[in-house]
Amino acid sequence: MPESKKPQGLLRNSFNFPAFSGLPSEPEDEIDLKYYNLNLCGFEPSQHWCFLGEIVDSIGLVRVLLRVKDKDGRVVTVGLYTDDRGKVLAPQIKKGHTVAILYGEQHGFLDMTVNIRVEDASNIKIIPCSLEQLLKASDDLVVLRKGQPRHCGSCGNGENASYNTHLRLCSRCRYASYCGEDCQKKAWMDGHKADCKALVEVQWFTAKNWETFHDWFSF
Ligand SMILES: [Zn+2]
Ligand SMILES: [Zn+2]
Repeated sequence: MPESKKPQGLLRNSFNFPAFSGLPSEPEDEIDLKYYNLNLCGFEPSQHWCFLGEIVDSIGLVRVLLRVKDKDGRVVTVGLYTDDRGKVLAPQIKKGHTVAILYGEQHGFLDMTVNIRVEDASNIKIIPCSLEQLLKASDDLVVLRKGQPRHCGSCGNGENASYNTHLRLCSRCRYASYCGEDCQKKAWMDGHKADCKALVEVQWFTAKNWETFHDWFSF
């Protein structure tokens, strides 16, 4: 399938899910008008955004400091400046898992590096799958939305509509479907176990409207 024909999931969009280079700068000096509007109450975000990065290392001692690789392949540091310095999050930190940071901004640290500083614990979440798995799951959901005919995710049976009623849905992700228990078990062993987790996680993102800002999202 040519690259342009592949379904592009929500998480591929670099406006609502920017890489580090696309994040606004922390508005101490200058408000980034790509992300904020001026209204009667002051500046308010004009849209929602969320930074996604895959954990490559965890380096903090006093507080959790994560090294994460963004969508562009750039590795940046995420500092947990929350009340507990990231202690609650620590058991979930694992290389290869993805960190999602709502309203992440480029922050200039004292050592002159520019990284991401997280102050509100409800803005950060660790998702137990790789960034690529998460992006792929978001693509898969586009196909589902388009109402393409469902077929068994293992043997491929059931391309025609009349067969659909006989397919059983995966009870976890409610997305993958199979012609029977044997196919479901086989698909689980063949890799749906990992895909399923990503499909479940990505539905938190796809259930929301990222275009218009009414109130802050939180995890
Ligand atoms: Zn089957
Ligand atoms: Zn599933």
